[in-house]
Amino acid sequence: MIKVCKFGGTSMADGINFRRVAGILASDPERRYAVVSAPGKRYGGDNKVTDLLYETHAEVERTGRCGEAYKKVRERFRSITRELGISYDIDSLLDETAAEIERERSADFTASRGEYLCGKLFSAFLGVPFIDAREVIKFTPEGKLDGRTFTLASRVLKEERAVFPGFYGEGADGKVKTFSRGGSDISGAVLARAVGADLYENWTDVSGFLAADPRVVASPARIGVLSYRELRELSYMGANVLHSESIFPVREADIPVRIKNTFRPEDEGTLIVPVSRYRYGGRAVTGIAGKKNFTVILLEKAMMNAEMGFTYRVLEVLYRHKISFEHIPSGIDTMSLVIDSEELGGVLDEVCGEIRAAVQPDSMRVFNDIALIAVVGHGMSRTIGISARLFDAIARAGVNVRMIDQGSSEIDIIVGVENAQYERTIRAVYEEFFGNPES
Ligand code: ASP
Repeated sequence: MIKVCKFGGTSMADGINFRRVAGILASDPERRYAVVSAPGKRYGGDNKVTDLLYETHAEVERTGRCGEAYKKVRERFRSITRELGISYDIDSLLDETAAEIERERSADFTASRGEYLCGKLFSAFLGVPFIDAREVIKFTPEGKLDGRTFTLASRVLKEERAVFPGFYGEGADGKVKTFSRGGSDISGAVLARAVGADLYENWTDVSGFLAADPRVVASPARIGVLSYRELRELSYMGANVLHSESIFPVREADIPVRIKNTFRPEDEGTLIVPVSRYRYGGRAVTGIAGKKNFTVILLEKAMMNAEMGFTYRVLEVLYRHKISFEHIPSGIDTMSLVIDSEELGGVLDEVCGEIRAAVQPDSMRVFNDIALIAVVGHGMSRTIGISARLFDAIARAGVNVRMIDQGSSEIDIIVGVENAQYERTIRAVYEEFFGNPES
């Protein structure tokens, strides 16, 4: 068995945590490859090394030299080295890195150095090889993952154990390129796929996915097992334990992912499995997630369904403005466009005018400040009466539903309510499906 283990920023924040992570790796010989993030926050108000590095890049752009922000990066790595009590020449590495940052003058290169330095130091501490992500993770000129990555991974497999920095790889121009923020999750997934891992363990600072946002619902239940599809829906709608793009590489190879808590390694965490291996656990709803601040444009026109090209002409307007939509629930004579309000900032009137000109609707109404709530679970398609229970619970909470969208997959039902009713709705839905252990 091969396990690829990714450790997030809080897991790598200081020397004590480096030791903790080393202990986790040592406790299971199958944990052969460790993918590390840059050191994160040690306490509220602390700096994340990656943020300091983006500041460093701004300093270099301004003055040509690494300045105050890089000093803090130095201090962090020095203190971790001290805490580990190893004789490792971190100062020379930090000097070399500063010189490279000043030479390269690239935001991606500078930001990637958090993972690079962390990986180098951790590999020295463990006494196992460091493999630079540049040698393995390659991007195409379009910025997509290059298939060469999978053959280059044989380099990794030559080592019994290795430390691999997350967050970056090498672009087609030979320069360092990062994933988007939080992208070490993606690096871990890519590596897991590339080495043919049996399990991708993602170690973080929470004990897995929760069935609802703990800022909204007090002590929500932990989700034991989740399918990739459910995860995709939940993380897209705001549940952000794992980077939402990180499931694609593992999903292609059917590699399960386990979310684990570095600070409570005995907790089981959440297991994410392919749909084919998903066993219905008896709960109709797996989880609830949501986001605020959407705009709904509601169009009505008699015989809309018979009008050839109606949707095409509406979407063409959005396409021209480079606006992407989230959902388009539609009825026989109605169609709603649900769009992230930020995307419409400043152009809403223009867009509405163009839609009106393009399709001449009988009426057109705009609702702002809409929140979307996704109720997700494979179990919903097996159980009769879920939507009745859902809408009944929302009605009992005194909330007016502004929009409903149920994808044909029946894996989720999306409900639109006013922003102000968001928390109340989530609590009511949670209470309905999780308040009683039998549901
Ligand atoms: N260090 C990077 C960030 O803060 C990547 C990661 O930690 O996943 O975004």
